[in-house]
Amino acid sequence: MNDQHDTQPEPVGERELFLDFANTVELSGGVAQDHVADGSSLRGWLRARGLVSARTPASAVAAELSGFQDLRALVREMAARQAGGRSPTARQVQRLNRVLREGVHHHELRYDARGGRFTVGQVGGELPQARAAIAGALAHYLADHDVDRLRVCANDGCRWLFVDASPTGRRRWCDMRVCGNRAKVARHRAKVARHRARRGATGTG
Ligand SMILES: [Zn+2]
Repeated sequence: MNDQHDTQPEPVGERELFLDFANTVELSGGVAQDHVADGSSLRGWLRARGLVSARTPASAVAAELSGFQDLRALVREMAARQAGGRSPTARQVQRLNRVLREGVHHHELRYDARGGRFTVGQVGGELPQARAAIAGALAHYLADHDVDRLRVCANDGCRWLFVDASPTGRRRWCDMRVCGNRAKVARHRAKVARHRARRGATGTG
């Protein structure tokens, strides 16, 4: 490492959770494509990040789909405002805090008579906690990091959220090779999506 401190080292996993979630809806040629449009696809997304357990059925996730969609819209609105140089509104902060509050949980010691030993379990709704984890990633990003680096891709056919980690801080596109050259968007889109899916599948902690 050299001595440059243009960008500070950041815990990538936490930050990427809200970015990845915001980017589960993407524009393809200007048409919105939702990659978590139903209970089973959203469950798969949450499972890949360790946010729900195997025993949570897709039907339970489907029942709370609107809560996740509201959160995603909120994350995108707050990030877009921030990217435009304006702080999130008091109302937006209130909405985010409500999501954080609904994710409240505690731990409980239980004695399993059959196994003859203690276990520690978590009490509280798993899905509200999953939403709180995503909201918490955004909250920590806004509180702890250089908010000026939060961007919305300048390609109107893309609009992905990203964090500009370049030394100059002048990046305008989520991916230079893809959106930096709009003529190549269609050809590169599938490649980037595959790359991101692979990265997502490895988990972000
Ligand atoms: Zn882009």
